[in-house]
Amino acid sequence: MNCVHCGKETLVGANYCDSACMIANAKAIGGKEFSPNGLPTRSIRADGNMYEHEHGDHPDYKYPVEVEFVGEIGDDDRADFEMIAGRPAESEEELRRMQRETHALIYTDGFIAVTMYEHNYAMWSVGTGAYRGGRYASNAQRLKVPLRPPAVVKGEP
Ligand SMILES: [Zn+2]
Repeated sequence: MNCVHCGKETLVGANYCDSACMIANAKAIGGKEFSPNGLPTRSIRADGNMYEHEHGDHPDYKYPVEVEFVGEIGDDDRADFEMIAGRPAESEEELRRMQRETHALIYTDGFIAVTMYEHNYAMWSVGTGAYRGGRYASNAQRLKVPLRPPAVVKGEP
């Protein structure tokens, strides 16, 4: 397959040769960058607009936040890791890292936080990071607190 933007040959199944070509193509079709926190583009919509998070186009989007997996690790988790990584996990930390999610912070009053991940809202305690509700989030997850915007890392793709 050839890169949609520059025409160079790509890896099997890839539409672009790299992220620079993805962004150049988004700009070429009229896409605008929305980076209120100065973070790199992580999501490009079909119209070419570029965002820091897949929910960066939400009208109340603040910044990305991390949600950690704090539940029990089971045989299914080990099997999932091995299927994805092609090798067994070396540690429990590695298994937990694979289940980490980056949510978009949508609202906080300093006591509760509402986040969005894969088009679903979740609510958390800002003091402890504990799960407080939501369709697909659970007690096996915890919001990383204190809440703060991620630091900008220059040169990060
Ligand atoms: Zn290219």
